[in-house]
Amino acid sequence: MKKMNKKEFKQCFSRRLAEKFAMEVSDASPSELYQTLGSLMTSAYSQDWRQTWQDYRDAEQKQSYYFSIEFLPGKMLKSNLLNMGWLETVEAGLLELGIQLDDLAEIEPDMALGNGGLGRLASCFMDSIASTGLPGNGNGIRYEYGLFKQRFVDNYQVELPDEWLQKGNLWEVRKESKAVNVRLGGNVYLSSDEMGNLTPHYQDGMVVRAVPYDTGMVGYQNNIVNTMRLWSVEIPAEEEGNYRSVEARRTVEDLTSVLYPDDSNEAGRRLRLSQEYFFVSAGVQSILRYYKELKQPIDKISQYVAIHINDTHPAMCVAEFMRLLIDEENVSWERAWNLTQKVMSYTNHTIMAEALEKWSIPMMKSVCPRIYQIIEEIDRRFVAEMTGVQSFDLIQRTRIIQNDQVHMAHLAIIGSHSTNGVAKLHSDLLKSVVLHDFYELYPARFNNKTNGIAMRRWTQLANPSMSKVLDETIGKTWRKTPGDLRLLLNYENDDQVLNNLAAAKLTNKKRLAAYIQENCGVEVNPHAIFDVQIKRLHAYKRQLLNLLHIIKLYLELKENPDLPIEPRVFIFGAKAAPSYHYAKSIIKVINETASLINNDDSIHNKLKIVFLENYNVSLAERIIPAADVSEQISLASKEASGTSNMKLMLNGAVTIATLDGANVEIRDAVGDDNIAIFGLTEEEVYQYYENKTYHAAAIYEQDNVVRRVIDTLIDGTIPNIHSEGQEIFDSLIKYNDEYFVLRDFEAYCIAQMSIDKAYKYQRRWLQISLRNIANAGRFSSDHTVQRYAEDIWQIEPVFAHKDDRGVTKHEAYLL
Ligand SMILES: *Cc1c(COP(=O)(O)O)cnc(C)c1O
Repeated sequence: MKKMNKKEFKQCFSRRLAEKFAMEVSDASPSELYQTLGSLMTSAYSQDWRQTWQDYRDAEQKQSYYFSIEFLPGKMLKSNLLNMGWLETVEAGLLELGIQLDDLAEIEPDMALGNGGLGRLASCFMDSIASTGLPGNGNGIRYEYGLFKQRFVDNYQVELPDEWLQKGNLWEVRKESKAVNVRLGGNVYLSSDEMGNLTPHYQDGMVVRAVPYDTGMVGYQNNIVNTMRLWSVEIPAEEEGNYRSVEARRTVEDLTSVLYPDDSNEAGRRLRLSQEYFFVSAGVQSILRYYKELKQPIDKISQYVAIHINDTHPAMCVAEFMRLLIDEENVSWERAWNLTQKVMSYTNHTIMAEALEKWSIPMMKSVCPRIYQIIEEIDRRFVAEMTGVQSFDLIQRTRIIQNDQVHMAHLAIIGSHSTNGVAKLHSDLLKSVVLHDFYELYPARFNNKTNGIAMRRWTQLANPSMSKVLDETIGKTWRKTPGDLRLLLNYENDDQVLNNLAAAKLTNKKRLAAYIQENCGVEVNPHAIFDVQIKRLHAYKRQLLNLLHIIKLYLELKENPDLPIEPRVFIFGAKAAPSYHYAKSIIKVINETASLINNDDSIHNKLKIVFLENYNVSLAERIIPAADVSEQISLASKEASGTSNMKLMLNGAVTIATLDGANVEIRDAVGDDNIAIFGLTEEEVYQYYENKTYHAAAIYEQDNVVRRVIDTLIDGTIPNIHSEGQEIFDSLIKYNDEYFVLRDFEAYCIAQMSIDKAYKYQRRWLQISLRNIANAGRFSSDHTVQRYAEDIWQIEPVFAHKDDRGVTKHEAYLL
């Protein structure tokens, strides 16, 4: 990457602005300045981008391809600047031109081609794969509209379209020459020659063009730029004649038009299945095309290519890879199957039944008939192979096609060499319960890869004030080696350091308070506890448990306004799937409770509730550095890993948590004294399921506190929630509280009291906070992707290679 000093940058910037817009800095709008900066950056890294690609090809390196139906990068301007090593120079240079970098960063729309944790994980991985010098790429869909924008109207969620491409996208490059055709629908029949070789013949259906848009994934100061390839649909020129009508064109364009906004829920719609096959087929075809350019025999492909199936949405990679090998490359079934299993690997992200993807046979036949045939044959051979070796029942439970449905997780497990969960607890649950049958069949395939986060974004970019304290205290090595955060433990008794961290936190809280004032019109005290729950709105995540605790505090304060509790601001950020009625009712009730509490002067500002609209990556970057308390309160066994728990910990928030997902590993990292754990364990939850002994109504009858609190949902205490309050009340009492909210309520309140008490002793609180920061290094996604690279993909960093000067990539960057 070209290095520049401030003076050179200013010259280049002014020149580029003049070339692009024929303007002087003083005349340009923030948008024009943003475009100019972006174009300067992309032309600076495109040389490295090309070189990276060439190095991989010349070294014939094995590469991995991360297939994910979602990517959630957020904004890329500052993250690219940081990774290019330009951030400080550009920030200072712009300032001398009278420009605030943050004003330009604001112009960029969030790239929100994902719903939440799953997509954000994919983007953290993209950053880390490039930053650790690994030859790995992303493969996904370029949705015209990303995740909806959330607004509150009359305290209800309203969804608006996310037109993120309206002003163009600086970072993407359309690669017309790399387009491929994808066939959808129609019929297929097989003919056989004298040798018994089968050839598919296609009838009807449609052929669409998949055009890739590549985005450079700039590694952290290492001259490496990998590729995230997102596919967009077009009508092929030769098919124009068949798509004259508006409706016909729409059916094609719809394919990559919108991201399905359902999180943790199976979409179950034809268009969704078409989207899945579209990006799978386009991606696998382009990988094979590239491989063939290497002129290596097809039998060696597993030494050059690893395909990762992120959750089941790309599970058809297994069948598509088989299709291309047997139909197009004339490889025998047995040989093709062997290669497929070696190439593919799969990550499971959920144990929730409603999220396990299944497709009806008629639907799959009508969207991708050849793929269905191949899946049928995989299933037939699986049953044949297992018969006589395994019990009939086990085979019936594990086969791919059951009850006229195709089980995508089964396809992914059977067709790959690795299945991993995303936190220790989750991976153990997969082995012991959810995928136990498969564990019996293939014990060696199962492994754990605990999720991680891109440390640089969540500290250096999101929290510059804390980063500065870290630099001053432990030096700068933590920026590249997050494990070095541990050095902070040497300062846990150093008042100066504790105070510096506290001052950084206060700066961040004041900044968030100003944002809250501006966006919600609520005044909050930056010295209050900032208690944060940010994540998708879902019953299993139990935002309701948080709310009930707030209502309890409110009732107590009404009775005793002098109650000696620390002032608290409860901050929520969450989108509900548009079709998820219950989740939307929770939003309404939280918002109405906020109106009630925030406007009640009798409680002396001891409680505030702020529900920030439109939670996304950029808002996360604003909230997390200001958080004192991290709410990770899902019902044990339901959250596969969680990653906001890691981001908040890294920023010094103290976690209040159930023993779920990666919370267990956070507790192991910080120790019991530096986290507030409460609630049922996963074993206890399963005990309840087994014995069917949970009776929420009994708790309601016997526990006066619970009764008083949840009666507010239906007795008019909280205004304007007539039907929503009743709906939530019924979910608890009439429908027996599926997520054990009432069962965990008392334990949660006690844990919350311990938080309140701990905060009162500021010095001790600051020490706890410091220990959380110091122990967060292990959750770096750099580390996570290195484990994937070694254990699953078998790919090596390019750092190992030296150029003709005998210099590695990283050394070259430092030159
Ligand atoms: C990290 C992140 C998530 C995941 O949050 P969880 O609490 O782990 O579910 C979701 N959305 C955004 C925008 C994030 O940054």
